[in-house]
Amino acid sequence: MAYKITSLAGDGIGPEIMASGIKILEAIAAKYNHTFEIESHPFGGAGIDAAGDPIPPETLKSCQNADAILLGAIGGPKWDNAPKRPEDGLLALRKALGLFANIRPIQVPSSITHLSPLKKEIVENTDFVVVRELTGGLYFGEPKHWDDVAAVDSLTYTRVEIERIIEKAFEIASTRNKKVTSVDKANVLASSKLWRKIAEEVASRHPDITLEHLYVDAAAMLMIQRPTTFDVIVTENLFGDILSDEASVITGSLGMLPSASHAENGPSLYEPIHGSAPDIANQNIANPMSMISSVSMMLRQSFSLFKEADAIDAATTRTMQAGFLTADLGGNTSTTDFTNEVLKQIEGGE
Ligand code: NAD
Repeated sequence: MAYKITSLAGDGIGPEIMASGIKILEAIAAKYNHTFEIESHPFGGAGIDAAGDPIPPETLKSCQNADAILLGAIGGPKWDNAPKRPEDGLLALRKALGLFANIRPIQVPSSITHLSPLKKEIVENTDFVVVRELTGGLYFGEPKHWDDVAAVDSLTYTRVEIERIIEKAFEIASTRNKKVTSVDKANVLASSKLWRKIAEEVASRHPDITLEHLYVDAAAMLMIQRPTTFDVIVTENLFGDILSDEASVITGSLGMLPSASHAENGPSLYEPIHGSAPDIANQNIANPMSMISSVSMMLRQSFSLFKEADAIDAATTRTMQAGFLTADLGGNTSTTDFTNEVLKQIEGGE
């Protein structure tokens, strides 16, 4: 079968890790007899340089027509004072595609537990997913304004927005350890009271899945004290922004972590959680794991190519277990050498 993928390499280390991701896709295509039609377009700072727009019309059109989108990273000091910012492209893309559900898996492979800022016995076997609502809440609610004496942001959520993200969390939990932790601030916020009510309603339709509620402050503490007790965490936009970044430090490097953003219909977007890392760009030292794992998530979640995704995950695990680690993980393997080792493992694996 043929799958149409739009590749947005972006800026900084984006093109280096995208090159790794595409090599992995080519290896999977060859081994399992698939066709990945990959169309590359400028996006972010590269879009501004090429067409004066962080998301040129041709780029957006390609994304809308794709089966899935793979994004490297965007931004950098070159565009910090530009009239249009690279990040505007990402917000416009999320809005245009209705990407309301952001999924971040947090896993700590045993080969790198010693790199976590937490004690080994606390992080060992950490494996949970943060499901963040991405298109509602405080970031978008109106009215929103400020002047020198007062400021207002509006935290608005509708039933439809809450229900679909909580359903998504239950759907993910049904394929994992069947536990959902819903994070809110229902002792204070009206939007959280509705959130909690709807979470209970959704739970009643999934009797095989356990629902627990946590206030966001307690969740922030427990994530550090007992990360292994979580399976799927679901929360609104602002809480999810903060908690998913907190969760990302548990692994010891941002360079490890992929993410997926889903709409109700249409293509999903897969990208590393980190930025464009301008401090290490063009040095062939970036960790491509975040992109390789984003490719694996894309195969699994957009194309249902489970065997192929498993082959990638097994290959990266074997590569790290064999001691191939990039500089962010304390090793000296280059981006290309790490990728080549993963390719060897894919080609030689089951
Ligand atoms: P960053 O995530 O780019 O980098 C933070 C630190 O992590 C840096 O020391 C960097 O070298 C390191 N790092 C990140 N990814 C790595 C990898 N794969 N391998 C090894 N080390 C890695 O965050 P920042 O420096 O605050 O932001 C840089 C630019 O990225 C800014 O312009 C910011 O706006 C943008 N940004 C973009 C996205 C996105 O594309 N979705 C997300 C966050 C930040």
